[in-house]
Amino acid sequence: MHKLFFLAGIFMAAASLRGAEQPNILFIFCDDHATQAISAYGGPLAELAPTPHIDRLAEEGILFRKAYVTNSICGPSRAVVLTGKYSHLNGFRENGNSFDGSQQTAPKLLGKAGYQTAIVGKWHLKSAPTGFDHYEVLKGQGQYYNPMLITNGENVNHEGYTTDIITDRTIKWLNQRDPDKPFFLMSQHKAPHGRWEPAFRHLEFLEDVEVPEPPTLFDDYSGRTKAASQHTMGIADHIGSKRLMLEYSSKFTQDQFQIFDNFFRPKNEAFLAANLTGKERTQWHYQRYIKNYLRCVKAVDENVGRLLAYLDENKLTENTIVIYSSDQGFYLGEHGWFDKRWMYEESFRTPLIARWPGTIAPGLVNDEDIVSNLDFAATFLDVAGAPIPSDLQGPSLVPILEGNTPEDWRQTHYYHYYETGGHGVALHFGVTDGRYKLIRFPEEGINDWELYDLKRDPNEMKSVYDSPEMAQVRKRMKKELTRLQDHYGVAEEER
Ligand code: CA
Repeated sequence: MHKLFFLAGIFMAAASLRGAEQPNILFIFCDDHATQAISAYGGPLAELAPTPHIDRLAEEGILFRKAYVTNSICGPSRAVVLTGKYSHLNGFRENGNSFDGSQQTAPKLLGKAGYQTAIVGKWHLKSAPTGFDHYEVLKGQGQYYNPMLITNGENVNHEGYTTDIITDRTIKWLNQRDPDKPFFLMSQHKAPHGRWEPAFRHLEFLEDVEVPEPPTLFDDYSGRTKAASQHTMGIADHIGSKRLMLEYSSKFTQDQFQIFDNFFRPKNEAFLAANLTGKERTQWHYQRYIKNYLRCVKAVDENVGRLLAYLDENKLTENTIVIYSSDQGFYLGEHGWFDKRWMYEESFRTPLIARWPGTIAPGLVNDEDIVSNLDFAATFLDVAGAPIPSDLQGPSLVPILEGNTPEDWRQTHYYHYYETGGHGVALHFGVTDGRYKLIRFPEEGINDWELYDLKRDPNEMKSVYDSPEMAQVRKRMKKELTRLQDHYGVAEEER
């Protein structure tokens, strides 16, 4: 009896010690946030539209330049994050799907490992969240003003700017959590997903400047297969009046409407009266688009700052890993586009910045290792010290965060986009090794390949698939594509 009591005492001491050591995990996830719009990544917009709070994370942690997604679209990317599995295994291939919440997910496993789990903000997986102790999520896309948050099954209306409200609710949950247990918290913004309605305090931001145009704004797609020319995501012709703020999307209160309308209406009337055509019209569209996009990003950045300040003020900074990422990248006018979906760099790549004091050395920039949204689930579990199930397809990033990239780390990355019809983007899949990128468009009517050499052609303006000197690369990349499809279990009929 005495011995049992003693052993139980040791077990409890060990358990509570472990509880104290398990770090908190704060996952700040945005929607459609391009690396081009984060100043820590540099680039032509960095000085004009700085993101000091996200940059602080990078200064105090690690920034990845080769973070890719498996399927560049909102819902599918989120399903990959939760499961650590490709779309064809987690079952969520395209936005119209409904996530099978009965399957194994990272939050469920973290709950078993002693974590309190919560998600606040964008969910976008149709079915109700499972595996979270607390959820309050936007219905579908949600709106930028006056959001309704489905709160543990109940519809709750809020008044105000959604990016701010998501942070308010995130902080509220942090305040009422059990401080004796570690937390896994997903704080997920709608922003900067379209249609880009800024906070009132940011309406004037950038108003008097001309944002530089990307060099590929007037891409005519002559350097690639006909897939790209079939797009319907052009800033010139497809962006539409709601994305240009010629019409508004949110259900405003009367007071809110007046503020918004007072700002946009005179400019809209001047634009319509000018009756611009051709290149001039596209340039006006681009300025209107990029400014509102960057204004939405500014609110995100401020709210990242609020969360970091909360961690500081509550002495949580040291024992919390903060991960900042987005469900995919985005076109900020590159190739003439808004939106995402393609395997071209701007939407294939996603921001990834992580801070974990004592584990991640400050100021690291990782531009070599190919990492993926496929890796988040295993990473969360590894950070928690929880077992990583063998069916997860992405490895843990923890060794890389510690500065020790494993010898057998992936050298290539597989991509598969399924959502045919959305913005005219055809189904495609492909592989990259970080330099070369092979893309297959299998559908009838296209049935073609593209190959890019990012070293010689970083903007991916000319496919070299047919170049005789690329024969060896072509062969090697095709072989690698097949190897990855075998490895990840892609069915023959989906190749
Ligand atoms: Ca998205």
